[in-house]
Amino acid sequence: MDGFDRLPQEYQALTGRSLTIDQLALSDRFADLMVEANQKINLTAITSPEDVRIKHFLDSFSLTLATGTLTNESVIDIGTGAGFPGLPLKLLFPEIRLTLVDSVAKKTGFLDMVVQELDLSQVRTVTDRAEALGQQPAHRQAYDWALARAVASLPALVEYLLPLVKIGGNVLVQKGESAERELAAAQKAIRLLGGGKAEVIPVSLPGIPDQRFLILIPKVRRTPAEYPRRVGIPAKNPL
Ligand code: SAM
Repeated sequence: MDGFDRLPQEYQALTGRSLTIDQLALSDRFADLMVEANQKINLTAITSPEDVRIKHFLDSFSLTLATGTLTNESVIDIGTGAGFPGLPLKLLFPEIRLTLVDSVAKKTGFLDMVVQELDLSQVRTVTDRAEALGQQPAHRQAYDWALARAVASLPALVEYLLPLVKIGGNVLVQKGESAERELAAAQKAIRLLGGGKAEVIPVSLPGIPDQRFLILIPKVRRTPAEYPRRVGIPAKNPL
């Protein structure tokens, strides 16, 4: 994809980390597959090469400012859409065990195709709602990291994510200018669901005037059994 050769410099400037030639090639291939598939199924509104590079890939790579280097940690990305931010993180850290979740089957179908094409191991896709997974023993309190970008307001999002995380693990979400306001509104939910003190990390992307933020919330206590509530309730009636 045009301009992708700038990604290593931009990643280095943002995080101080290096992108290998292989990681760049896989990112480039994934971007091409997404833009091609997007002509048939509606995966993303971000399609210009510059926007795909910065707003999808570099923005996803910015998570490393909070995660540091990951090895064989288990990571779940809720409402992943076309695979962001989870799949770019997998390209950086091939050893992670990644679960990509979306409630829309055509999106997880696209991701299955990408996983095959890029020959990735230890990636599974799940077509379901976050609220349903949070009550399933296979997923509940099973992950080191639970990620989300552009899925719901923070009070609802923490009810999707905190039940999925092990004690000692973390929720990590990406937000725009509303981050501090959403965090204030989510304090009660975070406490109820077993979250600890949140950390907010500012992220500035090249050429993007709006400030972005990572919100990192440690899981410090077990989530009470009644959460997450039924599908649809966290968003309709946030804690
Ligand atoms: N995270 C991707 C990104 O930033 O490019 C996609 C964002 S898109 C705006 C939101 C996605 O979340 C959609 O694909 C939608 O199907 C999914 N979604 C919304 N609520 C969900 C839920 N409760 N459980 C699972 N997926 C959900």
